Amino acid sequence: MKITVIGGGESGVGAALLAKKKGYDVFLSEFKELKKEFREELINNEIDFEENGHDFERFEHSDLVVKSPGIAENTKPVQWVREKGIKLVSEIEFGFTYYDGYVIGVTGSNGKTTTTKLAYHILKEGGLDVVIGGNYGISFCRQIVMQNSKYAVLELSSFQLDDVDAFRPDIAVLLNISPDHLDRYEYDLEKYASAKWNITKNQKAGDLCIYNADDPWIRSKINGRNSKVRNLSISSQEIKFGIPSKDGVYKLKLLGRHNVFNAACAIAIAKELNLDDDKIQNGLLSFVNDPHRLELVRIHSGVEFINDSKATNVEAVYYALEAMQKKTIWIVGGVDKGNDYSTLFPLVEAKVEAIVCLGVDNSKLLDAFENRVQEIVETQNIEEAVQWAQEKAKVGYSVLLSPACASFDLFNNYKHRGDLFKEAIFKLK
Ligand code: ADP
Repeated sequence: MKITVIGGGESGVGAALLAKKKGYDVFLSEFKELKKEFREELINNEIDFEENGHDFERFEHSDLVVKSPGIAENTKPVQWVREKGIKLVSEIEFGFTYYDGYVIGVTGSNGKTTTTKLAYHILKEGGLDVVIGGNYGISFCRQIVMQNSKYAVLELSSFQLDDVDAFRPDIAVLLNISPDHLDRYEYDLEKYASAKWNITKNQKAGDLCIYNADDPWIRSKINGRNSKVRNLSISSQEIKFGIPSKDGVYKLKLLGRHNVFNAACAIAIAKELNLDDDKIQNGLLSFVNDPHRLELVRIHSGVEFINDSKATNVEAVYYALEAMQKKTIWIVGGVDKGNDYSTLFPLVEAKVEAIVCLGVDNSKLLDAFENRVQEIVETQNIEEAVQWAQEKAKVGYSVLLSPACASFDLFNNYKHRGDLFKEAIFKLK
């Protein structure tokens, strides 16, 4: 049987390695240049490949095409495969076919990495044989090639959930749905949300679906379905004074109401797998989140600098501003993905003293916030943004980078933006 893999990043190469291990005739096709380590890996594993363009004739006799999540539906290779009527599946679907362990899938517009990592950490510290993968770190397929774990916690983006047929996690977590990546879904929120719904659509009696009871779209879908899936709803309202534990409430380390919700989801996963309260509590306290998510970088001359570069949509910024306990100088901007800033107005008026717009085109931000704060300036230089923010901040203030936008107008990605922000902070006199 011949399998073609489209896309030569972590997911595509992972899928090619798994297909090879299972004895298929594998061909991988990448539109750009392959990263050196991936090229070497393909060569070492005797996997046939092409790079710097697709030659569709080479896909022609495939029995199955596996698509990495980076490839959009409207791209030429996907269209070609569809026209030929060849079966096309996502990398997650392909991996699922070969995994006989217990799958925990986490999806949503915001909080995927935090919740996935936290759940993984609690389970691992609790002594379970568990791996983490999917959209975070190592692809699911590569994890399956590497080891035969009993449990897998997978971060799943909407792109990974496109083109799944049989994928059925034992536990599905639906965190929230807010507008993001709409460019990949014909600017249709329903299409984007439906991709996320794929996480639970195949679940059967006995499976568990943990969902956000405060999210209207998720709630209406859950209420409308007729199945024996066990639903567990979590509402931020119900846990605003803490998440109940056997001795009161769990102690948490992460900042913000959104992280209480994320922790409640992770705790629910751990409870479903019968971990006791002490183990869960230990895991919660020893957890360190990834950088660029409400990360306290430094307190300098009485001013707290917080890096939330991963906040690439309005919803994430909402929770960041809500978590701010002090007067704030807010650094915002980048590539606007069709943002509506109006939900932020009350928080900005209550907490933000001044705004630095950091992007190539700041016109929409200037229009939205001009009359809502004392001062608003713009720059294309992150060092200048940080210096200006420091000048405006008084002792006891916070400076928050929480951009609400993608980073690629001025930076390679959100990590690059966050790293330069941190560098600029450490250069301050
Ligand atoms: P994702 O992997 O879905 O992008 P992350 O955990 O990396 O999520 O967090 C991305 C951004 O969203 C961060 O700025 C973070 O503070 C914010 N965030 C995290 N959890 C939530 C949530 N449950 N609701 C809204 N925003 C959140």
